[in-house]
Amino acid sequence: MSGREMAFIQQAFRENYITTCGSNLQNFEKSLAAITGTQKAVALNSGTAAIHLALKVLEIQAGDEVICASFTFVATANPILYLQAMPVFVDSEPETWNMCPDALESAIQDRIKKGKKPKAIIIVHLYGMSAKINQLLAIAQQYQIPVIEDAAEALGSTYENQALGTFGEVGIFSFNGNKIITTSGGGALVTNNPTYAKKALFLATQAKDLAPHYQHSEVGYNYRMSNIAASIGLGQLELLPERVQKRRAIFQFYQESLRNYDFIHFQPEPTACFSNRWLSCFVLTQDQALKAEKIRNALAADNIESRPLWKPLHRQPLFNAYPYYGHEVAENFFDTGLCLPSGSDLTDDDLERIVQVIHKELI
Ligand SMILES: *Cc1c(COP(=O)(O)O)cnc(C)c1O
Repeated sequence: MSGREMAFIQQAFRENYITTCGSNLQNFEKSLAAITGTQKAVALNSGTAAIHLALKVLEIQAGDEVICASFTFVATANPILYLQAMPVFVDSEPETWNMCPDALESAIQDRIKKGKKPKAIIIVHLYGMSAKINQLLAIAQQYQIPVIEDAAEALGSTYENQALGTFGEVGIFSFNGNKIITTSGGGALVTNNPTYAKKALFLATQAKDLAPHYQHSEVGYNYRMSNIAASIGLGQLELLPERVQKRRAIFQFYQESLRNYDFIHFQPEPTACFSNRWLSCFVLTQDQALKAEKIRNALAADNIESRPLWKPLHRQPLFNAYPYYGHEVAENFFDTGLCLPSGSDLTDDDLERIVQVIHKELI
């Protein structure tokens, strides 16, 4: 926290709007819609809830197939299982690390051949980097399959100057504590379709029908963001541009400092992509793969946390029975990659110390 979060919280207390309505909640949604350039934002209590509701507004049902990026955090795919739908995992490509358009097309064609057209595609903008959005959207359009963008890690990132999360039918963001800004825990669904926004809000507040008494005709959820969480969010949104700048500076420092190791390849940023550089990540060439774990252990020995990249979901025990399409690109990332410390409060001394440990390990 380093902005006006407390001032907004005090305002909420003064107005005595503490739970799931209030002016800060409304203003947080308005600001988020304005910043991302979408018509509607619905503030929720997690990014996972936002993905769940995105699938609900697209009317995904038990037994439906949903295509999902494999290289991501488990929260992208868990909501598919909440609905008893079936995830179909698609590999990454090396230029953005996100969903491979060729593998997506193979997956769609094969699923259709096997008798079922997928009902939705969840693409992810991992570590803040845009997927190959135009190519993925073109394929989705060709087969008439709606797209959900998991932009949980990508608030502040753009593709051709358009905010990530605003290209598909529905986009989602997370404001969990580890993301680029936080509401202490929270998420949002964004869309240019007012019907979807209305439906998401309805489902997030227990699906109450219009009546003076409590009347319900479908399953609802308790997924609404509180006015207090939104107050934190309003303070945090003001910080977003400087957070993005800071994360990009951290990335640049690592890249410059480690540029002499030709076996280290940082996550690329193709033309037209602008990443918030939520996490600074690299992969190593295959022949040097073992060094990733060595660097991680050397950093840990000096009380510095770093982490492997996301383990591909089709390799997780929870998901390994579901179909997968690709060529083990994401597996190679997992085997050879590392996320370096990337917090917005890292000091120059912290960064210097981190690269010194890495240099010492690589000599
Ligand atoms: C954090 C995250 C989520 C889930 O968001 P929560 O707010 O933690 O529920 C979903 N997808 C990705 C890629 C994430 O990083």
